[in-house]
Amino acid sequence: MAIENKKELKDKIIATIETLKVKIEELKEVTKPIAPENAIGRISRMDAINNRSVNEASLRVAEEKLKKLERALLKIDEPNFGICIRCNKPIPEGRLLIMPESITCVNCAQY
Ligand SMILES: [Zn+2]
Repeated sequence: MAIENKKELKDKIIATIETLKVKIEELKEVTKPIAPENAIGRISRMDAINNRSVNEASLRVAEEKLKKLERALLKIDEPNFGICIRCNKPIPEGRLLIMPESITCVNCAQY
């Protein structure tokens, strides 16, 4: 991967990490324990529980992505960055730009 592309990718990863951290904070806020039954109406409590499980799922996805991106950022200056861990071929730059956390090429990602 060319140096200037690597720099662009690095900036992109850093920006995405910042955005994810904000999102994770927001999701943590909305996944806090729900007030007891008598504090809010029964229907709105059920709504709150439903929304909460959706938000909890989003939170897990966001945290997982954050971990992967932080790992990618640590590895980006290593010579084997952007090399598929399965077939050892370079991962296309287009894929890395969309998913910098990729550790496999498209072909190998299917397995
Ligand atoms: Zn591969």
